[in-house]
Amino acid sequence: SAADPAAGAAVKAADRAHVFHSWSAQGLIDPLPIAGAEGSYFWDYDGNRYLDFSSQLVNTNIGHQHPKVVAAIQEQAAKLCTIAPGFAVDVRSEAARLVAERTPGDLDKIFFTNGGAEAVENAVRMARLHTGRAKVLSAYRSYHGATATAINLTGDPRRWPSDTASAGVIHFWGPFLYRSAFHAENEQQECERALAHLEQTIAFEGPQSIAAIILETVPGTAGIMVPPAGYLAGVREICDRHGIVFILDEVMAGFGRTGHWFAADHFGVTPDLLTFAKGVNSGYVPLGGVAISAEIAATFDQRPYPGGLTYSGHPLACASAVATMNAMAEERIVENAADIGERVIGPALREIAERHPSVGEVRGLGVFWALDLVKNKETREPLVPYNAAGAANAPMAEFAAACKRGGLWPFVNMNRTHVVPACTVTEAEAKEGLAALDEALTAADAHTV
Ligand code: PLP
Repeated sequence: SAADPAAGAAVKAADRAHVFHSWSAQGLIDPLPIAGAEGSYFWDYDGNRYLDFSSQLVNTNIGHQHPKVVAAIQEQAAKLCTIAPGFAVDVRSEAARLVAERTPGDLDKIFFTNGGAEAVENAVRMARLHTGRAKVLSAYRSYHGATATAINLTGDPRRWPSDTASAGVIHFWGPFLYRSAFHAENEQQECERALAHLEQTIAFEGPQSIAAIILETVPGTAGIMVPPAGYLAGVREICDRHGIVFILDEVMAGFGRTGHWFAADHFGVTPDLLTFAKGVNSGYVPLGGVAISAEIAATFDQRPYPGGLTYSGHPLACASAVATMNAMAEERIVENAADIGERVIGPALREIAERHPSVGEVRGLGVFWALDLVKNKETREPLVPYNAAGAANAPMAEFAAACKRGGLWPFVNMNRTHVVPACTVTEAEAKEGLAALDEALTAADAHTV
C-alpha cells in the first residue's frame, strides 16, 4: 500500500496520548506505527515492509491474516460472540478436542485461559491442590509470564521488581552446555550433572514440600536451549519418585514452533500438566490453557476446581483455534516448520556462524533458533553483559537497527538474536531474512575483540 507518513504520525501521536506500554519507561519509547500485515510481513506508514523474524512475540505461527482463521472469526462473530464458561458450546468443545488430540499421553482435559501467564497460574494451582504441597521449582533461565506466580517462577530479571511475593518458588539450573553451570564438557555430562543438581535441590528443600517442577520443554526467551537427550526423561523419573507434579510450559515451544505439534514430542516425555497459548491460534484472539492428565483431572471430579475466568473458552478465541489447528494440518504447516528449519535455516545459520566472529553458538530446531553473540569466541564473553541497558547495550541496539534497515524485524534478548519466523515461512522468505541477518551481523562483529 502507498506510503502515508502523515497518517503514521497521527497513529503514533494517538498512541502516545493514552496507551501505557508493557515493560517500558513511557517517556523513552518510540513505537512504530503499523499500517498492515500479511503472511510473514508487516509494514509501516512510511513505505517500509519488514520480514517478521520474531513472529511478533513468537506467537504468529500461522503468519499474519491467515484467510481461513480470519473467516472463522467473522463467522463465529455473526453466530455467537460470547457466552459464559459454564455453558456447553460447540466451538469450545471442538477446540478442546483438537488440542487434546494433539497433546501427548493422557492430557485430555482442557482448561482454557486468556493467555500463557494465566495458564501457568492455573497449572500451579492444580498442582498445589492435587498434592497438598506448596513449593514449586523452576529454572533460572526461564520465562513463564507476568502475573503474580508466573513472574516469580520466571528466572530472568523481569522477576526482580515483583519478587516480593515469591514465597514457595525455588529456582535451579537447567542444562545449557555452552554456558554450563556445572563445568561440563559434553552433553552427557551436562545432563547427568543437571539432574544430580536437581536431585540435591529437592533433597535440601524437602521432597514432601514440593508440589511441582515447571520447565519450558525448550526454554524460549531465555535462549532456546534444546535439552540434552535424557534430561526431560530424567526429570520425569525424579517427579514420579517423589510424587511431584511435572508441568511442561509449551506456551512458546508448542503448536509447530519446534517442527512437532509439541516440543515434548521430540523427547517422548509426557508431563502431568502442559500449558499452551501463543501458537494455539497465533494470537488472533487471546487464548491459552492447561492440558490436564487423567489423574489430576480426577482430583476435581467431586471437589470443585477453585479457579475460573469470565472469558475462559471464549467463542471467538476457540473459533480461531479450531480454524488454526485445522489449517495447520491441511496445509502441513508443522511439517513445513520442520523442513525449513532442518534444510534451510539450521545449515545457513551454522555457515553464518563460521564467517562472523560475533556468533558464538547456533542452537535450535524447527523455526526456533538462537544465535548467542559474543565479544570473543574463545572466552565466550557475551557481546553485552547480562541485563545490560543504555550504553552498555549499544552493540545489540546497533545490531537490531541494522536488521531493521535491511527490512528484517529481529527478536533480540540480551546478547542473543532468535530466528523465529512463522511456521508458514517459505524457503525464499527464509533466505531473504538470513541474507539480511548475515549483513546486519557485521554491526555486531564491530564490537568483538
Ligand atoms: N510461558 C512461556 C514459555 C512464554 O514464552 C510466555 C510468553 O512469552 C508465557 C508463558 C506468558 O504468556 P502470556 O504473555 O500470554 O501471558
